[in-house]
Parts: sequence; structure tokens; C-alpha cells
Amino acid sequence: MYWNREIETAGRNEIEKLQLDRLNRAIEGASKTSYYGKIFRENGVNASGIKSIKELSLLPFTTKNDLRLSYPDGMVAVARGEIVRMHASSGTTGKPTVIFYTARDISEWADLVARCMTATGTTRDDVFQNMMSYGLFTGGLGLHYGAERLGAMVIPSATGNSLRQIQLIQDFRTSVIHITPSYSLHLVEVIEQNGINPCDLGIKKAYLGAEPYSEETRTKIENQWGLDAYNSYGLSEMNGPGVAFECENKDGMHVWEDFYIPEIINPDTGETLPDGEEGELVLTHINREAMPIIRYRTRDLTRIIPEPCGCGRTHRRIERIKGRTDDMLIVGGVNVFPSQIESVLMKFPEVGNNYQIVLDRQNNLDRINIKVELYSKMFHGELKELKALNQRLVEELRALIVVNPRIELLEPGSLPPSTGKAVRVIDNRKI
Ligand code: ADP
Ligand code: ZN
Repeated sequence: MYWNREIETAGRNEIEKLQLDRLNRAIEGASKTSYYGKIFRENGVNASGIKSIKELSLLPFTTKNDLRLSYPDGMVAVARGEIVRMHASSGTTGKPTVIFYTARDISEWADLVARCMTATGTTRDDVFQNMMSYGLFTGGLGLHYGAERLGAMVIPSATGNSLRQIQLIQDFRTSVIHITPSYSLHLVEVIEQNGINPCDLGIKKAYLGAEPYSEETRTKIENQWGLDAYNSYGLSEMNGPGVAFECENKDGMHVWEDFYIPEIINPDTGETLPDGEEGELVLTHINREAMPIIRYRTRDLTRIIPEPCGCGRTHRRIERIKGRTDDMLIVGGVNVFPSQIESVLMKFPEVGNNYQIVLDRQNNLDRINIKVELYSKMFHGELKELKALNQRLVEELRALIVVNPRIELLEPGSLPPSTGKAVRVIDNRKI
């Protein structure tokens, strides 16, 4: 079942012709922005001067830091009056990265998400319960608009409140859900605690995304609910969900190449790698007016699957995301950098020189343990002082990472000392 057969099954030449046309338009738009205007001048990039898709590799990369530096509107290519919405990347604190959309951008995005949902067999007769956070995060509204475009009935239940989720599923016979894998694992527990077998709820499909998870977790979730789970990939910089999505074959995600040009690069050298080789995914958004982004380094590791897909769609697929090139941690769906944790710890004069972050998963929820060495004088005082310090650390860290951290206060020298690069993070979660 296709949403737009012509586009979804277009030949390679046709796709590349469209890409070239849209890429030049994106460069033209980008050169109007203060950020790219400067970068393009410095690099001698000429608007509309790209003659072949291969020349894309001559353009400079855009990084998350570039987005931060151009905050709030250094990458906006249209007049303020044209913009109808903004979103921001999830949980990331510090300077957020924000994304803008025109009415056309929102409409095109909705159409793309409707295409994704159709590729999994969802139709207007389905009842779609969207258990993703609504608000600045793109996962809520992104799928919401797409499902409405498709004509399905949307239940915008958002995250949490598990008992109400169950009630809604039962009362409105939800057939398709959108949920993070970690929340799905937790919700199933709640359902079972209430004496219900999740398989009896009649849900047929789940869209799982927003965080990395393994094939084993997909299978587990499918068995728990008795449904088909489809991998959904996206990032706010590229609109949000809808960038790449699995079809009914559930074997890699089609990257919609009329919207995005995917490249795989060696993250260390920046060199473009051939299809099939694993590296960092780089995406160019070629169908957004408000904010064209050229060669965005996603930091996500994957490979392009060169073989054609049995579904007949010609847009190339990417493999499940292996992880990130950098050290960003996703704890309970919230992004944190070890350096952010470090900056909180080091604000406390009592904190010594070494610390370690240990991640675990208990009852399907992420747990973060932070082992913190203190100066030895702290152990000569009162126990209640240590307790008070522990509490202050928990509070400051919780403000940053949302989940409640467990703090272990240690005497100096308790943690393995580092002789070169410190190993700060130990991730025991089996995802
Ligand atoms: P941020 O950029 O702050 O992480 P986003 O909400 O834009 O905020 O999150 C996008 C990121 O989430 C992706 O770059 C990727 O690392 C991760 N992600 C999204 N979907 C998936 C998925 N299906 N599998 C693995 N990781 C995913
Ligand atoms: Zn397919």
C-alpha cells in the first residue's frame, strides 16, 4: 500500500533529478541566512551552482554546535511572518537547538508521516494513540499531524498516566500506538499488574522510536503485546519523526530521499563512505523553506542498505541506529552529556577529583548511579552533613536529567584512577 506511489517507487535517475533541483533551492534559501551566508562566502559556495548530487560532498558540514551558535534564528531563511511553528530538540539542556517551519513545511511533513504510516499498512480506519510527549518535542505533534492527514482517528494521550492510557485503549479500541521502547516495556508491566493480558487489548501495530533500542527489544515488545513493531527514526533538526521509517518488511528504514539526501561518513575524517559501510549518518534537508540544513552531522551510527527492498519502494534504507558517535547518554528518554553531569558535580566544593556514571535498567526503567569521590575532610565530620550533601546533589542533578539519580559518596581513591582518557560512563543497560 502506497501513500504516493509515484514518488515512493520513482527510479534512481528521477530521484536524483528531483534531489538536485531541491538541493539547489535549499542552498539558495540557506544563503539568505546569516549563518550559511557567511559560511558559503568563506567556502566559495555558489547558490544554484551544484551540477550533480556528487558535488554535495564539497559543501561544509553543519553540526549541532553550529545550530547552537546560530541560536535563535541564524539559520532562518524566511521572513518572520512566514513562520508558523517552532520545535526544539528533546531534553537537551544548556542552549537548546530550535527548528522553525512555514505552513508549507508543516504540511509537507504531515504528508511524509502519512506516507510512513501507510507503508506499515495503517489506514484511515485505524485508531492511533500517540503516547509521545507533546510540546516542543517533535514526536508528539509530528505523528499527530501525519495521522490526521492520513485520516486515522488520533488519541493525543501523550506520555505517562499509564492507567488512563489503558482505559483509552480499551474504550476506543486503539489499533496503532506510538511509544518509546522503554515506556512500552514499562506500560506492559502496569497492564499486567492490573490483571490484563496486553495481547487481549487488540493493538495491531506500534511505532517505536526516539531512542536507540535493539532488535531483541523489538521482538520482546512484539511478543508482549502481540503486535508488529516498526522502527521510526527522526531528529528535530530534520523536522522530527518521518525521516526514515520501516515498511511492512521490517528490514531497515526507508530514508525519504525526496526530502533528505543521506550520506554516510567516516566520523573521524569526514570522508564519504560507499553504500553498505557503517559510519555517521549525514542528512541534508532539501524540502524545508523556513530552515534548510545542509549536511547535518547526526552523530548517529548506521549504514545504508544498498539492496532494493521487497516492498517496491526505491528509497534507500538505513539499518537500525547502532548508537551515537559522541558520548551523549539517553536516560529514560532524556539526553544528557557526561560533561553536564560533571559541571553540576564540580560546582560543589566538597566534590573531589573523580566520579563515574553507571547506568542500569531496573524494572525496565533506566537508573543512573553516580559515584562521586569527596575530599577526605568530608568523612571526618558529621554523617548528617554527608546526607545533606547527597540530597543537594540529587536535587541539582534531577533538575538536569529528570530521572532521580542515585548518588554514592566515596572516599578519595575509591574509583579506578585514569592514566589517559578517563572512563566516565559504564552502561550496564541491555537494550
Ligand atoms: P536531540 O537532538 O536532542 O537528541 P531529538 O529529539 O531530535 O533530540 O532526538 C533525535 C535523536 O534521537 C536522533 O539523532 C537519534 O540519536 C535518536 N533516535 C531517534 N529515533 C531513533 C531510533 N529509531 N533509533 C535510535 N535512535 C533514535
Ligand atoms: Zn520496503
